[in-house]
Amino acid sequence: MNFPVKITEDSLVARAARVAEIAARHADAVDIEGRFPQEAVNAMKAERLLGIQIPRHLGGEAASTTDIAELCSMLGQACAASAMVFAMHQIKLSSLVEHGVDGEWHCAFMRRIVAEQLLIASATTEGGIGGNLRNSICAIEIDGDICRLEKDATVISYGSHADAILITSRSHPQAASSDQVLTAFLKDQYTIEKTHVWNTLGMRGTCSDGFLFKGEAPAVQILPKPFAEIAAQSMLASSHLLWSGVWYGIAVDAVSRAQAFVRAAARKSPDATPPGALRLAEVSNLLQMVKSNVVAGLKAYEDAKADGDKLSSMGFAVAMNNVKIASSETILEIVNHTMLICGIMGYKNGTPFSLGRHLRDAHSAQLMISNDRILGNTSSMLLVHKQDTSLLG
Ligand SMILES: Cc1cc2nc3c(=O)[nH]c(=O)nc-3n(C[C@H](O)[C@H](O)[C@H](O)COP(=O)(O)OP(=O)(O)OC[C@H]3O[C@@H](n4cnc5c(N)ncnc54)[C@H](O)[C@@H]3O)c2cc1C
Repeated sequence: MNFPVKITEDSLVARAARVAEIAARHADAVDIEGRFPQEAVNAMKAERLLGIQIPRHLGGEAASTTDIAELCSMLGQACAASAMVFAMHQIKLSSLVEHGVDGEWHCAFMRRIVAEQLLIASATTEGGIGGNLRNSICAIEIDGDICRLEKDATVISYGSHADAILITSRSHPQAASSDQVLTAFLKDQYTIEKTHVWNTLGMRGTCSDGFLFKGEAPAVQILPKPFAEIAAQSMLASSHLLWSGVWYGIAVDAVSRAQAFVRAAARKSPDATPPGALRLAEVSNLLQMVKSNVVAGLKAYEDAKADGDKLSSMGFAVAMNNVKIASSETILEIVNHTMLICGIMGYKNGTPFSLGRHLRDAHSAQLMISNDRILGNTSSMLLVHKQDTSLLG
């Protein structure tokens, strides 16, 4: 990992640990009430974690994707909804950091994000298109210096709590559905009217309600690069990696609970191996596989970052898709395994070994951009892409 060797009081890890402590304290209430994790987000702001990815010359701390993935995992071990809010905010920042540093408006926006600890949401999903990120129905209209957009945004996590939204659309009303742009709208430049209430199985605290979005802003707020490039070069990789960081965190906490359960059983009967011990060894193997997968994905992204051709290559896209598929599927297997270890104490709510929240949160991973859609995308690339056969990365 990319952290300073010494964990000082103001290192990223120490600051995230303080946030995680607060997030863990409220995790069950956030889940049961399906409410925004306000305490955890306040703590993120107090620890100034919302601007860490932004370059130093714009006031940030230039944290790497690897640094941020570790924080996502730490928060994921405490409260998956808080961790996912943090991850989604950082995914939006990655688009600004990688593609907005040449624009005066976007640089000033990044300075404001650091100074005011603004929380940024994402609106890519659209009624009639679903999770097909690389297509839009809605189109931005440019009228002189002003742009206007109306979108049936069926899922915007923490939409009611965000200070700004980055939103996709077609680049003009005659554009093809895949000719898209990404625009930043500030809170006082849009209205959102709730169309769907987020009452879900898991990830309840992300408050990912649906909204009819209507915005009007200066046209300079449209990111200058086509969304196709933004998606390929920063958004897809950072989404798959930071989401995987959160999911790994859910799995780590589930395995910790199972380990505590087995240890308690071993203490009770020191002469007999607890029945769950073998399963614990099996699940630790699965957890290590997820970790290796995410770590390798992070390394591939950090290595490719300096090389635009590599970032846009099929090999890189296949690798990132595979990180997402493997981590989203394996965490379900892991949490299920930990449930078998803890038995009824894991199934019940309110015990030190409860795993219901973990299981429900983990189920969102396969749907967060449907694995079927991602596999379909990978399978098309594999028709022409030469298989990666090397262990050297
Ligand atoms: C916790 C959480 C937070 C989210 N936050 C946001 C947010 O902040 N902003 C945002 O914009 N979105 C957000 N989303 C939406 C998310 O990222 C997905 O885009 C969305 O959930 C997909 O919805 P869907 O399953 O209806 O759509 P689809 O992807 O359209 O899938 C519908 C069904 O069709 C099948 N299918 C679709 N395409 C294919 C294909 N090519 N091949 C085979 N089968 C296919 C799938 O298996 C699926 O069963 C969030 C989702 C979750 C779970």
